[in-house]
Amino acid sequence: MPEQETIFHKIAAGDAEADIVYKDELVIAFKDTNPQAPVHILLIPRSDELESLNDASKSDETLLGHLLFAAAKVANQVGIAEDGYRVVINTGGSSGQTVPYLHVHLLGGRDLTWPPG
Ligand code: 5GP
Repeated sequence: MPEQETIFHKIAAGDAEADIVYKDELVIAFKDTNPQAPVHILLIPRSDELESLNDASKSDETLLGHLLFAAAKVANQVGIAEDGYRVVINTGGSSGQTVPYLHVHLLGGRDLTWPPG
């Protein structure tokens, strides 16, 4: 059982609404409700075992690779691949992670600054 049930647990379980743009056997992608760019999509594993990248182990390698592969696929699907986009995984307090459920941010649709804040 997860230590804390988050909104992403509910979305993964189909118990909360989300604007889903992509789904496969391992991941779900949906629009962020507080977008930081014209395109801001979150990708989460359908299994709810990882609170963050810090919890990943060797057995999660396939899932982690799949999340990135799916992010690239969604970037193509929503039309930001050619101009470019950013993939972010906030991990832990100092990163600004607010939801303790592993998730990948896919951001695009505008010029993104570097370094991030
Ligand atoms: P974090 O700060 O943990 O890296 O990212 C959490 C993200 O989840 C934020 O960008 C926030 O806007 C988004 N978020 C929080 N609650 C909800 C929700 O109920 N639905 C959706 N679609 N996104 C959410």
